[in-house]
Amino acid sequence: MIEIVDIHKSFGDNEVLKGISATFEPGKISLIIGGSGSGKSTLLKCMVGLHKPNAGRVLYNDVEFTRLSFEERIPIRKEIGMLFQNSALFDSMTVEQNIMFSLDMFTEMSRGEKVDRANFCLERVNLKGTNDLYPAELSGGMKKRVGIARAISMTPKYLFCDEPNSGLDPQTSILIDELIQDLTEEFNTTTIVVTHDMNSVMGIGDYILFLYKGHKEWEGSNKEIAHTEVEELNKFVFASPF
Ligand code: ADP
Ligand code: MG
Repeated sequence: MIEIVDIHKSFGDNEVLKGISATFEPGKISLIIGGSGSGKSTLLKCMVGLHKPNAGRVLYNDVEFTRLSFEERIPIRKEIGMLFQNSALFDSMTVEQNIMFSLDMFTEMSRGEKVDRANFCLERVNLKGTNDLYPAELSGGMKKRVGIARAISMTPKYLFCDEPNSGLDPQTSILIDELIQDLTEEFNTTTIVVTHDMNSVMGIGDYILFLYKGHKEWEGSNKEIAHTEVEELNKFVFASPF
């Protein structure tokens, strides 16, 4: 389980997160939704330690991550698989090298073991045989899948995906959602997906957190979202093409 408590984050005078609290349950998919610039990516980055919150706490299974030193965070960092917004693959590395990046950094696995693991991950995202391609040779959907293969390389407990559907056609988008659902079940991960996509919200959201101007404006299930009285959420829901 992941808990965030009263997270504040400012960049200079720009207060992006104004006290966000939430609980993310294991084996479930939680969604963070909200308009562009509402602080979704910033919140995820605070949770994995890429940004330092100005105040607030992040706890992984009751361990207070935000109090740990860089070194002390490594065991938890190893359990987090992250798909970054725009995939963030290393352009100068092949698909296989991208997937093996964390294995190279964090494990003592032999070259053969790492290749086996990369092949397993590639197969899992339906990209068998693409090992030697470079990111520039991949479509948008394939890049997302390589990003996901990299995110699961270390068999994560926590799976974070920042806009896994952005820039994809609706069919590919559904496949990515199904993949995230399957992986969550297979690895029993605590999964958090940042999305704009209302199909994802209705399809895979066990729990939804709606950010608006740095506040948690609403939280609930996808069954409740269509009946909410929260004006800004309604605008968000009904402005989105289903
Ligand atoms: P979202 O992911 O919801 O679109 P972001 O979290 O990326 O929003 O950004 C929220 C706000 O924080 C924006 O106003 C953005 O300009 C600002 N911001 C994000 N990252 C940085 C940064 N590294 N430095 C300064 N401002 C940032
Ligand atoms: Mg973002």
